[in-house]
Amino acid sequence: MDEFTTWDILALSEYKYLPFYDEAQEKEYLRYHKLHKHCNWIEAITYVNIGLLEEFYSNITLISNPDNPLVLVNKYRQLPSEYTPCDLEPIDVQFNPQGLLLRRDARIAFEDMCSGAAKEGLHLEAISTFRSFSYQNKVYLKNKLPDMNMEDYQRERDKVSARAGHSEHQTGLAVDINDLEQTFENTPEGRWLADHAHWYGFILRYPKGRERITGYDYEPWHFRYLGKELAKAVHQSNLTYDEYYIRYLHSF
Ligand SMILES: [Zn+2]
Repeated sequence: MDEFTTWDILALSEYKYLPFYDEAQEKEYLRYHKLHKHCNWIEAITYVNIGLLEEFYSNITLISNPDNPLVLVNKYRQLPSEYTPCDLEPIDVQFNPQGLLLRRDARIAFEDMCSGAAKEGLHLEAISTFRSFSYQNKVYLKNKLPDMNMEDYQRERDKVSARAGHSEHQTGLAVDINDLEQTFENTPEGRWLADHAHWYGFILRYPKGRERITGYDYEPWHFRYLGKELAKAVHQSNLTYDEYYIRYLHSF
């Protein structure tokens, strides 16, 4: 550890009490903190645990418990290709005419949220929900021409689309609502969702200003079901779900 100052090593040691402090990653914490001086130690520890010391889509973990309703899916954590939730159900036609699918609890909560919004004269509609691994693969590759270099393609495509296995939509717990434009945040429905979704068990999964952590642009339309209690806790914490999960739900 001689590349780090005694002062830094001492400063980091103050945080060993944290439940999410991983002694095996001390060098990584020091490296991250050295590279990102603006981060405090708790942030540095959290970001290293998420995987952010390395580029997105490196050191990928294959998720072993994809059915867990709290599952964290991101650019470091991949769902098995064969995974499809076993309790997918079609959303009520009044909130989605095409019969799109969500896992049972998420489907019930989504319909409840749509009814709540309707009481205030707002119309919510699901426009994308569960997507299988193979469908996501098609979405990801849809603009790729045969002679295009894959790495060049990925560099551009990664900004807007998840690679197969890395989309939260494969969990059956994520829903895109009404409109895939960032201007959605300024509509009455977008504002209502930002203020109320957590009461129904959903969180805004890709918040503004957290792109470096989530790996995604701000998506005011994409909501993730976590259940009421956890959604409220995540909302109040002002953390992304990546941070919240790694700090409070993940066991090392
Ligand atoms: Zn989405």
